Amino acid sequence: MSDCVFCKIANKEMGKLVYEDETVAAFDDLNPQAPVHVLIVPKRHIARISDVANGEDATLMGHILVVANEIARERGITENGYRIVVNCNEDAGQSVWHVHFHLLGGRKMNWPPG
Ligand code: 5GP
Ligand code: ZN
Repeated sequence: MSDCVFCKIANKEMGKLVYEDETVAAFDDLNPQAPVHVLIVPKRHIARISDVANGEDATLMGHILVVANEIARERGITENGYRIVVNCNEDAGQSVWHVHFHLLGGRKMNWPPG
């Protein structure tokens, strides 16, 4: 989608990637909520996680989790722990309409989330 900011970042039209492969890109969050706050996105535009269907999409989402694990290891937060968050639609506070997985770590986190 030409007017989608995460499509632009994933296509390297703006910002800086910390990871990329054929189907997935990752970059640091503009407004980090923890010492490590990386966003991992599919390169292909999918607006929200509730649009994800079985098959190709589901494989892609599984791959994103593996990439999140790799980035967590690289950033040294695996042992202490980290959180992976996907906000879907208004009530969850989704503000960018391209699926993104938040990888958060480097500090103690609370539960339940706000
Ligand atoms: P959401 O609220 O949709 O789950 O998360 C959107 C996230 O994207 C927020 O944490 C916000 O800081 C981040 N964000 C919004 N616009 C940009 C941007 O242009 N660049 C980067 N790196 N992060 C962004
Ligand atoms: Zn997009």
